[in-house]
Amino acid sequence: MKNLIKYGNECIKELNAIGIYPNEISEFKISNAKSYWGQARRRNGVYSIKISKDLLEDNIPEKSLKQTLFHELLHCVDGCWEHKNKWKELSELVNDCYAMNIKRTNSSVELLGENKVDKDIKTFTVVCTNPDCNGKYSKRGYRQPKWYKHIENYQCSKCHSKLKRIGTDL
Ligand SMILES: [Zn+2]
Ligand SMILES: [Zn+2]
Repeated sequence: MKNLIKYGNECIKELNAIGIYPNEISEFKISNAKSYWGQARRRNGVYSIKISKDLLEDNIPEKSLKQTLFHELLHCVDGCWEHKNKWKELSELVNDCYAMNIKRTNSSVELLGENKVDKDIKTFTVVCTNPDCNGKYSKRGYRQPKWYKHIENYQCSKCHSKLKRIGTDL
């Protein structure tokens, strides 16, 4: 698990080094939310930033975390609360200086990588029980297909023998 506060402070320093000064951040919080990667909040002039726990995992590239932190920190610069001209200008400057790819929104694949996003997708496979038949049927998806779940109601379409499951991740 990456240390959010350490990365938060590092990103602030890097912004300061190129002349960008976000307002003081009262708190960096780890969030379980699945609906956003990062979120800046402003309450009575006090700024805080929440970052999704997923981005702090050890196998997630550091760049994904920093990119999200930069995105939110830029919202904490005066005049940058919305994704408008000044926010865009500064995000392009950070992209250029630190080889980032800050956008209004970054997809899961961009931030987490293909493998991570696919981790919940399984392959469901059944084979024919007739040793002389090489019937094999599979499907990738999040849920068991009907013919996998209720295998007793289905038969091999080649030889009409019974089928058996051979696991969910082949
Ligand atoms: Zn934003
Ligand atoms: Zn068969």
